[in-house]
Amino acid sequence: MTKGRVFSGARPTGRQHIGNYLGAIQNYVALQEEYECVYCVVDLHALTTLTDTDKLKENTAEMALDWLAAGMDPQKSIIFVQSHVPQVTELHTILSMVTPMGWLIRLPTFKEKVRIQPDNVNYGLLGYPVLMAADITLYKADTVPVGEDQAPHLEFTREIVRRFNNHFGPTLVEPRIKLTPFPRVMGLDGVNKMSKSLDNHIELAASPEEIERRVMTMVTDPQRRYRTDPGRPEVCNVFTFHGFFSPEQVDEIETQCRTAQIGCVECKRTLARNLADRLAPFRERRAELARDPDLVWQVLADGAARATVIARETIAEVKERIGLP
Ligand code: SF4
Repeated sequence: MTKGRVFSGARPTGRQHIGNYLGAIQNYVALQEEYECVYCVVDLHALTTLTDTDKLKENTAEMALDWLAAGMDPQKSIIFVQSHVPQVTELHTILSMVTPMGWLIRLPTFKEKVRIQPDNVNYGLLGYPVLMAADITLYKADTVPVGEDQAPHLEFTREIVRRFNNHFGPTLVEPRIKLTPFPRVMGLDGVNKMSKSLDNHIELAASPEEIERRVMTMVTDPQRRYRTDPGRPEVCNVFTFHGFFSPEQVDEIETQCRTAQIGCVECKRTLARNLADRLAPFRERRAELARDPDLVWQVLADGAARATVIARETIAEVKERIGLP
């Protein structure tokens, strides 16, 4: 390994939205220039909360298509599906033997999940951080990009690695945390994080008409009731989006809003136009990739084959260290 190796995974949530793009995908694309990246669709993790699995396959393909269209490059990175490399479940079992139960039960994320889905508190939910540790260590990743709020999760992986290595001797790579800005993108309601389940999102592949329809529903400054009222851009989600998608106009829009030179309808139209222009190359590339429905699965199969080479090596080293016959 000459460059460091990054691992990151995301659940198969189907077509991606601009919150996914700003919060993760654009970062995935940028990291490819500096690191050898391993990007995984973590379908097994999705099972901890899913009851309905009918759409897993479709959602996996849709998400991977968006990743590819956005610039995640299978020539540079390993892009694959978690369950296509079954060694991860083997390492998960092994790591679970060195993970104290108390650590898992005390994790705030576990308590939160129990609160959210009290009728489905399954073992996988408890063991989720161990599977995550298996994901990272199986591929010998030395760097994991995380937002500040996710750092404790990675610390947990580092503790499992240290425990394993102390017990059996240095085997697994202890990943370092790469603190990365993951902007929290609010949804069209301006109240909740952008999410498909809340239907407050704009898909990356949305048509210009759909983008305009959705942008026009965005909540603005609630105190600006009349066109002549000065606005407060600092409390307006439309303005935050201008920061992302209209960087050259943002100063002008701020002044025009504060002095009531511009109305919210006009302001939203500008945003919709800029957003549609910015996403146009993505839409075209996606449509081109989608023309061959097998292509995405070929990319994922190739990624799994390359991931398996590393996974086999790690599992062999782990077994030897432990003394498994
Ligand atoms: S003019 Fe634009 S920035 Fe100002 S409140 Fe209206 S939508 Fe928000």
